[in-house]
Amino acid sequence: MTWTATILTLYPEMFPGSLGQSLAGRALTDGIWSINPRNIRDWATDKHRSVDDTPAGGGPGMVLRADVVAAAVDGVANGTPVLAMTPRGAPLTQARVRALAAGPGVTLLCGRFEGFDERLFEARAIEQVSIGDYILSGGEVAVTVLLDACVRLLPGVMGAALSGVDESFETGLLEHPHYTRPPEWEGYSIPDVLRSGDHAKIAKWRTERSEQDTRLRRPDLWQRHSDAAGPSPSGARRQKKEE
Ligand code: SAH
Repeated sequence: MTWTATILTLYPEMFPGSLGQSLAGRALTDGIWSINPRNIRDWATDKHRSVDDTPAGGGPGMVLRADVVAAAVDGVANGTPVLAMTPRGAPLTQARVRALAAGPGVTLLCGRFEGFDERLFEARAIEQVSIGDYILSGGEVAVTVLLDACVRLLPGVMGAALSGVDESFETGLLEHPHYTRPPEWEGYSIPDVLRSGDHAKIAKWRTERSEQDTRLRRPDLWQRHSDAAGPSPSGARRQKKEE
């Protein structure tokens, strides 16, 4: 069955955008997934077709109305999980992306202005998702990020079936660095081990670099990885001493 992305936005013409190119674009043409951008404004009820109003309590900007957005969500309901893009949401992870890709598709809500009337999230089962700790001007780019991450995992999209499992984050670690020809460039060379042809040694080097780079660059990931791996040998020793 075709994996379907339904997008509720004020700018449907922004899609497929970059998702119409390269890997995702080819998958779209091949019918592996489909994209259905819908204008939230189509569910507006007044003669000005308004979708937003001034913030309760005052302050700058406008807020997307709960009644209009909820009507849009109800109007496109097709059983797929509904996710709203917001910096207040749970950070998007590769694990969440993988789970979404394994399902029938997604319904995605793009915010604009100051975002959504909070009552939307009380009245409807909507997952709030953030793509990082910075503020975009709208949810469309965030949706593009999420869909790009999902689509590359759909069966038949990536050439080598295995190339998805080895990437950064799939193991909870950053991936090892890559090199290609020429072997010497501006005085810099490819690590000898990668040219040794010794596959066991190469695998060991890659694991070590993956661990080392994660420890140095992403102490947060490293901590989680170490916690998940259970008590370290030194921790175990410490415990033994205490007994
Ligand atoms: N006033 C809001 C930001 C609104 S930005 C706040 O401070 O939380 C306008 C819209 O852009 C949001 O409704 C959301 O849909 C999108 N957006 C901005 N930053 C985002 C992020 N980091 N992740 C996901 N969506 C984001």
